[in-house]
Formats: sequence, structure tokens, C-alpha cells
Amino acid sequence: MSHSSHKLRLNPIACEAHGMCAELFPERISLDEWGYPVIAGEPISPSLLSHARRAAQACPTFALLVEKDKAPA
Ligand code: SF4
Repeated sequence: MSHSSHKLRLNPIACEAHGMCAELFPERISLDEWGYPVIAGEPISPSLLSHARRAAQACPTFALLVEKDKAPA
């Protein structure tokens, strides 16, 4: 049985620590003491995917991406 899941990926070079992503997707993103996001490694379940996409779209520097998790089962 296989199903696709999604993960958040951060480009730390593009991230400017605006923190919007953590506000929009607190289920997987917290901020470190400098305001940079710390992304939880768990795959994003389908029910959380819209939150993840919203957070990625809100990032002003396009530093946050939602990608298919292609790890082998
Ligand atoms: S919204 Fe974008 S720039 Fe701001 S902390 Fe999140 S990833 Fe970084």
C-alpha cells in the first residue's frame, strides 16, 4: 500500500525570518530564538495540506516549499 504525502522544505538562504509561516502553520512550524522557522519532520497529512500551502504562499521570500515526500515506504 502506498500513498503520497507531503513535506515542507525551507530554503534557509531565502528565509528572512518574517515568521508568517509559523503563524499560519503552527502544527509543523515553530520559530527558534532568532525568529527562524524550525520545521517538524513528520509528513503532512492531507487534512493539514491546505494549511501548509497557505503558509508557503504567504512567505514573502518564497523560502518555503511544499513538496511531495518521495521517501520509500
Ligand atoms: S514566512 Fe518565509 S521568510 Fe518568513 S520565517 Fe517563514 S520561511 Fe522565513
